Amino acid sequence: MIKIITRKEAKSQGLSRYFTGKPCCNGHVAERQTSKGGCIDCKKQWEKENSQYYKEYWSKNKDKAKEIWTKHNQKRRHLWPEYYAKNKSKIIEYQEQYRNDPINQEKIRQAKTVYRKENKAHLNALKAAYKANKKGATPHWVDHKTIAKRYDECKRLNDEAGYIKYHVDHIVPIRGKKVCGLHVPWNLQVITAKENMQKSNKFDG
Ligand SMILES: [Zn+2]
Repeated sequence: MIKIITRKEAKSQGLSRYFTGKPCCNGHVAERQTSKGGCIDCKKQWEKENSQYYKEYWSKNKDKAKEIWTKHNQKRRHLWPEYYAKNKSKIIEYQEQYRNDPINQEKIRQAKTVYRKENKAHLNALKAAYKANKKGATPHWVDHKTIAKRYDECKRLNDEAGYIKYHVDHIVPIRGKKVCGLHVPWNLQVITAKENMQKSNKFDG
């Protein structure tokens, strides 16, 4: 049984809820919110009914939802770096989990196909720039066979995993801010996408 306590007493004790034992206007004998005096059961019921309503409303108005969500995110954008720094390991963990889910993998695959179709020119430009960069970072004496082996190994591991779990990574980035690495076998390593993300964050900082 919940202890009977007046709203005033609850307020003075800093409690968020109080209980009088008397029914609300809808007949619930339940706790009340100290701040507004509202019945907890009424609140729960309202939330239950309205969550369904909102769910249906937003599923019918996806574009509007997207627009509002984007605006909301833009307003809060400046908060992101701090949030990210605080929760980095959690976020990376979550992203890894998300990517490992077969349903999401299919979603990602489809989104990528659409993106590639819609951004062909842009992607080609990026690819060309990357190639040129790599070329600039590739000494003429480099052993291309050994390099190819790293990429083969990465492909083999990804085939085994069934998705892009591994990346071939330049240990020292070839387009680093402070130092530029070379496209040579000893600057290449096969690491997980997760490790690669953690690393690129480190080099960005
Ligand atoms: Zn009630």
